[in-house]
Amino acid sequence: GKIEPLAAAAEVVAGYHRAFPLREAEIAVLFPLIAARLAVSVTNSAQRATVKPEDSYVTVSEAPAWDALERLAKIHPRFAHYTFRHACGLKPVPETAAVEKWLSSNGRKAASVLDVDLRTAASMVFDFSVGSTFLGADPAAADVSVMGEKIRAEMKRAGVSVGIGRYDEARPIYTSALYGSNENPTAERRTIHLGIDLEVEAGSAVHAPIDGIVHALANNAAPLDYGPVVVLRHEFRNDEGAPQQFFTLLGHLTEQTLSRLRVGQIVPRGQIFANVGGTHENGGWTPHLHFQIIVDLLEYGTDFPGVARASQRAVWTSLSPDPNLLLGIPADRFPPKERDATETLAARRTLLGKNLSVSYQRPLKIVRGWMQYLYDDTGRAYLDVYNNVPLVGHSHPRVVRAAQDQLALLNTNTRYLHDNVIRYAERLTRKLPEPLRVCYFANSGSEANELALRLARTHTGREDVIVLEHAYHGNTNTLIDISPYKFDGPGGRGRKAWVHVAPIADDYRGQFRRDDPEAGVKYAAEVGKIVDKLRGDGRGLAAYIAETLPSVGGQIVFPPNYLAEVYRRVRGAGGVCISDEVQVGFGRLGTHFWGFETQGVVPDIVVLGKPIGNAFPLAAVITTREIAASFANGMEFFSTFGGNPVACAAGLAVLDVLEEEDLQYRALRVGKYWMEELRTLQQCHTLIGDIRGSGLFLGIDLVRDRTTHQPATEQADYVVNRMRECGILSGTDGPYHNVIKLRPPLIFSEADADLFNSTLDSILQEDAAQPEATSATPVASKPR
Ligand code: PMP
Repeated sequence: GKIEPLAAAAEVVAGYHRAFPLREAEIAVLFPLIAARLAVSVTNSAQRATVKPEDSYVTVSEAPAWDALERLAKIHPRFAHYTFRHACGLKPVPETAAVEKWLSSNGRKAASVLDVDLRTAASMVFDFSVGSTFLGADPAAADVSVMGEKIRAEMKRAGVSVGIGRYDEARPIYTSALYGSNENPTAERRTIHLGIDLEVEAGSAVHAPIDGIVHALANNAAPLDYGPVVVLRHEFRNDEGAPQQFFTLLGHLTEQTLSRLRVGQIVPRGQIFANVGGTHENGGWTPHLHFQIIVDLLEYGTDFPGVARASQRAVWTSLSPDPNLLLGIPADRFPPKERDATETLAARRTLLGKNLSVSYQRPLKIVRGWMQYLYDDTGRAYLDVYNNVPLVGHSHPRVVRAAQDQLALLNTNTRYLHDNVIRYAERLTRKLPEPLRVCYFANSGSEANELALRLARTHTGREDVIVLEHAYHGNTNTLIDISPYKFDGPGGRGRKAWVHVAPIADDYRGQFRRDDPEAGVKYAAEVGKIVDKLRGDGRGLAAYIAETLPSVGGQIVFPPNYLAEVYRRVRGAGGVCISDEVQVGFGRLGTHFWGFETQGVVPDIVVLGKPIGNAFPLAAVITTREIAASFANGMEFFSTFGGNPVACAAGLAVLDVLEEEDLQYRALRVGKYWMEELRTLQQCHTLIGDIRGSGLFLGIDLVRDRTTHQPATEQADYVVNRMRECGILSGTDGPYHNVIKLRPPLIFSEADADLFNSTLDSILQEDAAQPEATSATPVASKPR
């Protein structure tokens, strides 16, 4: 029943091997034995059915056994053998070690495959990896024709005649259906390059590096895109004196090459036997020679894969060892190999603070972002359902260009006159109601909240602050003090006397629920009680600060009239109302541009961050002229980078894109569709207790019990980690970490919502996601 029977079997073999180590000979017979066992099973069923035709039990396993047999028959037995060897920690292909050894000592004597000697010729190595800044994030720029021009231009600039594309490099450029499904964008594709590319002029002569025999030749024209290919066979004697062979595959040749050669022909070392094809004949690529070594051709000939799936990387790179063993390009031409995710995690743990958080049981190494997708270093695409920072899409070209252009012209401290900050302040205030007219700029939500508090305290001359349960407002000392999520959490130092915590107006799990039309007013009365007590204690109130839809608190939507009533009471006590819009601002909610508008109030101070610059650091505080006047009390306000020309250029571009692409409306449309579809899903899964939110700011509250609303914390963790395995990035939040938080870029589509929902649907059917499951099974964490 597994989509990937071999991968599933390898997990079982690896687990078995850890407990009961298998010997090499045992591993070698495993796959044939599995198939034999299934064959016995179907034979038994057939035989028993003739004896006991009325007994349905004798054939219960017949159909699944046939299904498994038919699927296993499609897997080359040696590929299965190599996969199982890898699962047991052995080198996948047993013969490769001898080939590598022979090449290490004889490769030096090989002739150059090109006219120029690759050992000495001026050459440059290109970075075609997923995280390549040469390629950039825009798939259109990785189009082979565009790339070809760029490659040639770089080579010309560097004065080299040979460009080199690396072996064992994960590449984002294989976008055609030949390399993976174009229906599910998060399905694994083939990305790992198994050869070395030599970028040279079309027509360049190709020499045999060592003696060989033409083993196969073909024009792998459309639908394959390798163009004319020749496979040479090479024989040698290994250390034991036994004959052994390997192959070299040379691809993207001229059509004429094929007509000159025949299978079985001997090609002696150094002989010119082929030419590099032009774009018109080589499958549409920029002219280059693809050179690959193959130890075992399996069932393939000239169609042996040149690009493999990352999940099978170890097996394929063992089948195709490093071609540089024959080419001899000096090692120092190649940049040091990038760390893989495991190495990066280890380095992060030693070099960065231990408590710097990282998502998922199996942390992701993300090296590229484009629109609603993030890409890991193996080229796997993930649908980003979580990140509210890239508001208009990861690497949106408009924002990128605005920031790049400005950075190339001027970026400086903010003590000079510059119109970007003025333009931005004009555009922002136009989006805000009166009397919010004066802007301050900073670099992070924390800095902005910190400044908002300073404004409130300077204006009121008081210190005390009312905050909501579970709130988070930032990482500075003062903001930790007003964030119960932090000061009441692990490592927290408790509530300061000047901080007053009001219950969060949560009408799903809190004291007053949705069936109570007065819930909003009743929650506001709790704030009123604090205000009254402060008065009674002779302490004045500086501010009430809250997110207008608390995110860390669990994607909470306040009941109607809550904020209006709170603001009335706070202002009545002379306090200032601060709206932390860091997560919900800029149209995400669909119905409104700002969160406070959903409650029909106008705050005295608004704080903006996260999505404001589409991931460029920028934050803002906007307040009234009156509060700004109080703040200008003689003490200078200066932020070196706050509102710098580059940040404001990014901010302006974000507003342009939001308007031109009508993204607030899109958030409304897609959010409504998504919510409706999730509600349908809710009918099938009792784990889904509540779905709430607005636009593309949604929360799925997972519960063990729909009556008690007991949080399903372990299940939520399980689901989010399984979603990540399936290529979808979400996260949990709320005081019980049981609310799946959905805040994708606003370019998110109905199709993306469908993909999320169908994946969630299937994961919710797994054992560990059942409401009664007590301890979620850990997600498979074997590094691949
Ligand atoms: N306010 C809220 C509501 C937030 O969610 C955050 C960040 N999660 C901040 C403030 C702090 O922003 P930053 O991390 O940019 O300092």
